[in-house]
Amino acid sequence: MTIDQPLLTAAQALARLREGNERFMQGHARFPTVQKEVLAELAKGQQPYATILGCSDSRVPPELVFDASFGELFVVRVAGNVLGTSILGTLQYAGTHLQTPLFVVLGHDGCGAVEAAIGSRFGGQQYRSRIALLLEDIEPALEGLDASQPHQALLCQAVEANVRHTVRVLRGTSEVQAREREGVMKLVGAVYELQTGRVRFLEDSSAPAGA
Ligand SMILES: [Zn+2]
Repeated sequence: MTIDQPLLTAAQALARLREGNERFMQGHARFPTVQKEVLAELAKGQQPYATILGCSDSRVPPELVFDASFGELFVVRVAGNVLGTSILGTLQYAGTHLQTPLFVVLGHDGCGAVEAAIGSRFGGQQYRSRIALLLEDIEPALEGLDASQPHQALLCQAVEANVRHTVRVLRGTSEVQAREREGVMKLVGAVYELQTGRVRFLEDSSAPAGA
């Protein structure tokens, strides 16, 4: 399918995610089932309005959290919502081929991968080799955090710092810079709150936490 023009602007896409999250929190989600006609239409091609890089955590399914249906979100899920070669390739595909106007890096409260990275970075904990490699992608985000604060507060800060770090790395690529400059895409960070179901969008996602 060729994409002539994105259906939504980044601002409209972001508004749609916010509204969907609100319906989800209020218990008014739209999609108990998907009709056959919808599936048949989608079989012709996809034109998702947002790309979401989220965590594999079973408690944070992006389609449900944003009350979004089939064909609406292009989703990458990996423990700790980290970047890696295949993740970057997937995001590049979303940018150049699907041309989704909005990219969201979605972290969440109580992220086990971020917690493990804290243990590795500040507590000297050892993990199995492939998990250790994954944690190496998170650890740079923890730079500058005060490890002496209470654990829950540290984890909260680290989750946000990890989102901001990923946003910063993505924003450092020439492709994202060019597309943001042209105004054809927007990149934002967000944190999902496990207790409330709310997605908190970070205002300037590349600024350091607390700034
Ligand atoms: Zn997680």
